[in-house]
Amino acid sequence: MENIKIIVVGETEVGKTCIINQYINQNFDFNHLPTIAMDKSKKEIEIEKTNLNLEIWDTAGQEQYRATNKIFMKGAKIALLVYDITNEESFEQINYWHETVKDMNKENIIFCLVGNKNDLYEKRVISEEKGKKFAQEKKMLFFESSAMDYESIETIFKGACQEYLNLVKEEEKKMNSMKEEERKKIEEERKTEKNIIVGEDEVGGNDVGGNKVGREKSGCVC
Ligand code: GDP
Ligand code: MG
Repeated sequence: MENIKIIVVGETEVGKTCIINQYINQNFDFNHLPTIAMDKSKKEIEIEKTNLNLEIWDTAGQEQYRATNKIFMKGAKIALLVYDITNEESFEQINYWHETVKDMNKENIIFCLVGNKNDLYEKRVISEEKGKKFAQEKKMLFFESSAMDYESIETIFKGACQEYLNLVKEEEKKMNSMKEEERKKIEEERKTEKNIIVGEDEVGGNDVGGNKVGREKSGCVC
């Protein structure tokens, strides 16, 4: 079973803990305590007959935990960058979270931009188009969600995992085609080596008396 580390980051109060709680426990809790530094939950899912063991890291957005959280970002395969559609500042800070996660993960990582609290449509200040556009520019997946709605949350995790599996498949293909190229190169090299040896034989053949042609050329009748 493959382990996938997923980190959920963003400003404080955007709904990170509620999103994870909805995904793991299928409920929405108004009264939970703020996250201290970080927390970890697990969930097993199956996508296209592949079993995945999700390890979901909840982090605190507060300044005082930022240094600690950076360390926990390492090794993530998927990052959810969460903002609150009713809070402009939380959207503006997405760049900070994006850059920080990138800094801590040099390999490929799936980024998902998540505009949460879309049940509060009357208080919306960040349009869906604005979120979408930003995600496209930064090559991220884009979702809007409400932590009160399980389906909208499940869609994020499923979509992200699907994208991750696609990436893994693509990388495998690349590796295989590299191996194939390598194999062809070796074959080509072997052929060239053979040609050189055959070529040497031919040179030898021109030698007077070396072989039949040589003998005939030299007029030898023995
Ligand atoms: P975190 O600091 O990012 O982990 O945010 P929390 O998960 O602690 O949520 C902060 C506040 O926003 C809490 O009062 C939640 O009840 C509320 N909240 C979280 N998600 C939603 C949502 O999708 N819709 C609404 N209306 N409230 C939400
Ligand atoms: Mg929290």
